[in-house]
Amino acid sequence: MSASPIAAPAARPLLEVEGLAKYFATGGGLLKQASPRLRAVDGVSFSLARGETLCLVGESGCGKSTVGKLILRLMEPSAGVIRIDGVDVTLAQGEELRAYRKRVQMIFQDPFASLNPRLKAATIVGEPLENYGLFSARERNEKVTDLFARVGLRPEAAEKFPFEFSGGQRQRIGIARALALSPDLIVADEPVSALDVSVQAQVLNLLVDLRDALGLAYLFISHDLGVVEHIAHRVAVMYLGRIVEIGGKERIFDAPRHPYTQALMAAAPVADPHAKRERIVLEGDVPSPLDPPKGCAFHPRCPYAFDRCRVETPVLTPRDGGHFAACHLDEA
Ligand code: SF4
Repeated sequence: MSASPIAAPAARPLLEVEGLAKYFATGGGLLKQASPRLRAVDGVSFSLARGETLCLVGESGCGKSTVGKLILRLMEPSAGVIRIDGVDVTLAQGEELRAYRKRVQMIFQDPFASLNPRLKAATIVGEPLENYGLFSARERNEKVTDLFARVGLRPEAAEKFPFEFSGGQRQRIGIARALALSPDLIVADEPVSALDVSVQAQVLNLLVDLRDALGLAYLFISHDLGVVEHIAHRVAVMYLGRIVEIGGKERIFDAPRHPYTQALMAAAPVADPHAKRERIVLEGDVPSPLDPPKGCAFHPRCPYAFDRCRVETPVLTPRDGGHFAACHLDEA
């Protein structure tokens, strides 16, 4: 594959997303056709290799969770293409969609809300196997026992209900359920943000171990750059529905090129008290996706904005170090 913002390190990506968009009509009635469209996701492209973790970061409302839902096919895209192993699944239905969903699983943010309180943990974890009619009842039980061990839960946990577990244990149940169908890709939307800080590292380490042992790919959505630094191979920074910078974790953290990424990094806590990061203070709120600014959508908040930024939308272009940024400054 040629050098492009969607290129993952591996020769053949597991997942490819090109020009993905999701627009929502607002308003209604007779004027509906003329009503503005909310551009939640507006032309997002990337790819993901087996065993790779791509983190989507950005402020609340930037569209990162919507990207996750689109890839999970929980909502229909307005435009764009989703491929897995080169097969277009953008409009897959019926058995094709069912087969795709078997390969692409999800870990939710709130482990308590995502578990049926009336079901025992073993039933929750074994449910996907039953839904897909896989294995005999005895084999399913064995598989569930294996999954419990894999996520660090004791066998006796199988007979307990969700309320009997801690937050971290509940998230382990959610992870075991996501693993039940032996997926290739897991979309994890803020999977540790609801957990105590002391438990976050344990769950993150578990996710890393599982990824490395099983060759899983993660699309990991997070607003927490400390978490992202721990788990990412590559990072995509989103602003108002678009990726504004994407590249390897080290480049994004150590030498960000887009002023928005620089501002995010400047605002993040630094583990090393001697480390210095250029201070760029983000002023103002994120503009409405109903009426995004013309040109570069970041220009009203950008300390470096110049005339061109107000009229011409920058596109992702290659920068040194193999990453891509959408900014008129220092364009290659
Ligand atoms: Fe700032 Fe202009 Fe770059 Fe946008 S294109 S981030 S406004 S310098």
